[in-house]
Amino acid sequence: MPTDSLAEIVAAVGKEVADAHRGAGKVADYIPALARVDPNRFGLAVITCEGETAEFGDAWLPFSIQSISKVFTLTLALERLGEALWTRVGREPSGSRFNSIVQLEAEKGVPRNPFINAGAIVVTDAVLAGRTPEAAIADIRDTLRRLADNDTIEVDKEVATSEAATGFRNYALANFMRGFDNLNGPVEDVLQTYFHQCSLRITCRQLARAGLFLAREGLDPLNGNRIVSPEHARRINAIMMTCGHYDASGEFAFQVGLPGKSGVGGGILTIVPDRAAVAVWSPGLNEVGNSQVGTLALEKLAARMKWSVF
Ligand code: GLN
Repeated sequence: MPTDSLAEIVAAVGKEVADAHRGAGKVADYIPALARVDPNRFGLAVITCEGETAEFGDAWLPFSIQSISKVFTLTLALERLGEALWTRVGREPSGSRFNSIVQLEAEKGVPRNPFINAGAIVVTDAVLAGRTPEAAIADIRDTLRRLADNDTIEVDKEVATSEAATGFRNYALANFMRGFDNLNGPVEDVLQTYFHQCSLRITCRQLARAGLFLAREGLDPLNGNRIVSPEHARRINAIMMTCGHYDASGEFAFQVGLPGKSGVGGGILTIVPDRAAVAVWSPGLNEVGNSQVGTLALEKLAARMKWSVF
């Protein structure tokens, strides 16, 4: 009996999940500009290390990358600082919400991992490295454009402004860490950079392409460019697996079994080591702040493809 092709499986899983669950979850509204997104959007895109692609639904439509940008700033910071980064941020799951401040005091301003907001703000400070926010933002955007092989990726200024106007918790985290000497740049500059990186607009198709180097030990399999060392690629994947979904990271490992990173825009980037990168988007979030329908789609796709690393 012929086995189903990747395209057939992606189409079948996409349709099954979209038909039954489209619109489920709650769109993030603590960033006002994000609250206006149509909750019924659903996109799914897979790209393999051989360059085969398969898509379903709104895979071509840009959405707000939000915390998935933290994967790419971590990539930049690791290449720049190397092991020294780990004196400023840990790599242990936090077990608390993405914007929580509670552990920071006990742990002297050193955030648990690079994917909770506090840790990502430290990473952004490392990427900023004394430059202007404009230069750092252009650097992050251009990195993403290069990795996605697409020059249309842009910051959504309205979302960035909306985040800056309402990001009181992020200001609190940044000021708190500055008080512990764990931020070098001015809080304003670090956060301006952070809000803009979170406000980049990207499609599932572009996001999967941009993450593909993580499936091949840091080497982009489609053009042969070395993006990061194999050691750094392994570490980024490990942190995605253990910390990529905040206090639901264990659940994601349990259900999907792959390194993944979510964002409150409803996107999730998932890496299938040696095989593929997958991006999914559905704006409705579960109570932890991860895409509800997106997670479900990844669960079904990983099961059908036998992709779990466990
Ligand atoms: N920009 C968002 C924030 O800082 C990112 C959070 C997320 O996607 N989990 O709150």
